[in-house]
Amino acid sequence: MTSFHTQTATQTLELLHTELNGLSAAEVVNRQNLYGANELVQKKPKPAWLMFLLQFKDFMIIILMVAAIISGMVGEMTDAIIILIIVLLNAVIGFIQEYRAEKAIDALKKMSITTAKIKRGGAVLSLSSVELVPGDVVLLEAGNAIPADLRLLEAYNLRIDESALTGESVPVDKITDTLKTADIPLGDRFNLAYKGTLLTNGRGVGVVTATGMQTELGRIAQLLQGDEADTPLKKRMTVFGKNLTYIILFICVIIFVAGWLRGEDALKMLLISISLAVAAIPEALPALMTIALARGANRMAKKNALVRKLPSVETLGSVSYICSDKTGTLTQNKMKVVNTLSSSPALESTGLSPMLLTMALNHDVQAKAENDVQGDSTEVAIVEAAIQELGFEAFQNLEQRYPRVAELPFDSDRKCMTTVHQFGTQFLVLNKGATESLLPALNSAADQKKLEELSEEWAKQGQRVLAFAYKVIPELPQPFSYETVETEVHFAGVVGIIDPPREEVKVAIVECKAAGINPVMITGDHPSTAAAIAGEIGILQAGDQTLTGVTLAQLSEEAFLDQVENTTVYARVSPDQKLRIVKALQSKGHYTAMTGDGVNDAPSLKAANIGIAMGINGTDVSKEAAHMILLDDNFATIVKAVKEGRRIYDNIRKFIKYIMTCNSAELWTIFLAPLIGLPMPLLPIHILWINLVTDGLPGLALAGEKAEADIMKRKPRGINESIFADGLGYHIIWVGLLMAGVTLGVQAWSIKTGSTHWQTMVFTVLSLSQLGHALAVRGERSFLYQQGLFSNWPLLSAVFFTFLLQLAVVYVPFLNKIFRTQPLSWQELGICVGLAAVVFHAVELEKWVKLVWRKKAATAQL
Ligand code: ADP
Ligand code: MG
Repeated sequence: MTSFHTQTATQTLELLHTELNGLSAAEVVNRQNLYGANELVQKKPKPAWLMFLLQFKDFMIIILMVAAIISGMVGEMTDAIIILIIVLLNAVIGFIQEYRAEKAIDALKKMSITTAKIKRGGAVLSLSSVELVPGDVVLLEAGNAIPADLRLLEAYNLRIDESALTGESVPVDKITDTLKTADIPLGDRFNLAYKGTLLTNGRGVGVVTATGMQTELGRIAQLLQGDEADTPLKKRMTVFGKNLTYIILFICVIIFVAGWLRGEDALKMLLISISLAVAAIPEALPALMTIALARGANRMAKKNALVRKLPSVETLGSVSYICSDKTGTLTQNKMKVVNTLSSSPALESTGLSPMLLTMALNHDVQAKAENDVQGDSTEVAIVEAAIQELGFEAFQNLEQRYPRVAELPFDSDRKCMTTVHQFGTQFLVLNKGATESLLPALNSAADQKKLEELSEEWAKQGQRVLAFAYKVIPELPQPFSYETVETEVHFAGVVGIIDPPREEVKVAIVECKAAGINPVMITGDHPSTAAAIAGEIGILQAGDQTLTGVTLAQLSEEAFLDQVENTTVYARVSPDQKLRIVKALQSKGHYTAMTGDGVNDAPSLKAANIGIAMGINGTDVSKEAAHMILLDDNFATIVKAVKEGRRIYDNIRKFIKYIMTCNSAELWTIFLAPLIGLPMPLLPIHILWINLVTDGLPGLALAGEKAEADIMKRKPRGINESIFADGLGYHIIWVGLLMAGVTLGVQAWSIKTGSTHWQTMVFTVLSLSQLGHALAVRGERSFLYQQGLFSNWPLLSAVFFTFLLQLAVVYVPFLNKIFRTQPLSWQELGICVGLAAVVFHAVELEKWVKLVWRKKAATAQL
């Protein structure tokens, strides 16, 4: 391994057989074949066969199989075989679920890939960083994630956050000088940049020395690849599931002992209790949850919200504040200059006003043709206006006539920028920026007053106002900084730019407010501009407050906490103040989403409960810090994601409700039968069958349930709210009891009337009640007739299919033998279906009662 930090830039290029202009196309193909893709290879996935075998590692399953084999040897061989087959089928379903969960997560991982700007054969290309090879020349700018290991060839104010690699949180200043000692820590190799670290400042060029697993990050990648973090809910459910397992085992032991003491056959009782334990322990829940979350995340991605971590999918529904940037997120980012005022006459030799000169020269856009101007949208608007005034050719000539020799780049803290141009033997200093930023630098009080009045007037109309200033100086000041350069300048003029709000945002804001979510605008713009636009889109309403960065800086923490919930617009704030806003909202108990795009936004994105980066205009650094990325930079997409988050959480509740109620019904039935003097209602195979067909298909289909009509009309769910809140726990117990009640009722009645197929009746009633229940739990607050029977096809098909299977078990002679069932008469089948309908209607009635309660509570509150 070459120590590139001890080589000069030229030596490095030679060693890598490349040049400043980059590799040739042919060479790139060669190297891609040689080195492969520039990506970190994930830990080898579990092979499918192992995943399948692991389905049997469950302790209870093993016991069940052993018990089945023993009972087979001493008694009924068919029973034993059926039990083994059912266990096998269970494993198949478990395997499919887990496999799908894994695939869904893989698909998610593939989506967030960064791009890099590189030079090949002299041309600059923007490529997926996966395509890089050693020898590629990479152009770096502030906000980039470093795509591979690099030896730096150029570095201007280059600062890199290497915490991902070294743990050091202070960004490191980078240089291009050659270092002497080979054997120094990574963090001290100041002329190298490492894959996965983040460029926070400056600009540079580097040549790729290593890609993929050969990079420093790749070498420790094995260490980093811990298991996917579980979501909070999954963690809680795992703990809960463990406790539940003990309870269920305890109940099963009681059932076994009680049956044995009553004189039942011990082996038979053992098999019953173990089957019951296997059926009642909800082992499918974690996999189902992963599927629901991962699929939900995939759906969100299709709606342009890319969620980087699964826990965010689950918690999105709790968001109660969305703090959003204005430009580009709430507005269209299609800026257009609508007002200009030039305040000084043409500048001597140029024949042009200083205003026009500044518009044409003070920017970082790339103007390739009259209608092909790329860059920051504010600057694009200004340059387009300048081109229109000058003509494209004259515009281009200006850049050659007055070449740029120095600059103080735009920065959202200072809110202005300065460029310096060769002006004969002198220098022309051009400034543009926010009114307040330029105001103190102006050399005339009259101009200051004029600028202030004008900006206020235009800002009130919702325009973004930028002021221009200039001066001609004989030589560049030393040191060159804004304190020495941005002083005593002449007022050149002002422009007013409009950026119309996005149409869909107005609707989204109404939706937010109905859903108990407070939208807040945070912008670097002038307070009047911000207020005008916030008013137009409905963020700022009567009684709401606007705060500026200056006022915010003066507010004490307590005073701010008093106001934070009423403030819907923050103007002229700097990125570090966004962090303060997030923290204040959080300390008021709000689950806060916050958008951001720049390097400076990373801390507030990390601190927010849901940090949201912009996919189009966002830097890699902000994306890296974010929980979610908006592929279309659109506020309305956040609201869609929240809605999706709520739906997913609802659905998780639905299948938990469904599966656990089934299990509770099975437990109650077996537990209560002897207490009321009835014989054992079911055989082990019946219990396992119900567990197999009911838990499996309808449960999965519930995960795909559509959002209920009121989903965005409820308040956000409290972040610490239990999954069993709002009566879910009671539901599991009482509906389970109800199902057991009708089942045992049927048992008692048919035994009394001397029916020989009482057990088939019991089996069928219990099985069909589950199906009735599946249809009813589709809606938590809406009735099935409102949702429509056909609005969840997979579920309807699952219910229908399961019904057919049950009929088969009851009517196919071969299956009669296996399941010890007898064909039911039409009347008997009718009774079974009728009782399942009773369960269905009871659950619908529960919703109705809750609805009335909720209405009462709501009116009581008024
Ligand atoms: P926003 O929160 O709307 O994205 P910015 O931080 O981009 O706000 O801009 C804040 C202010 O800085 C603007 O109102 C404008 O006055 C000024 N500004 C924006 N872009 C530039 C630029 N390229 N050059 C100079 N000043 C700018
Ligand atoms: Mg901006």
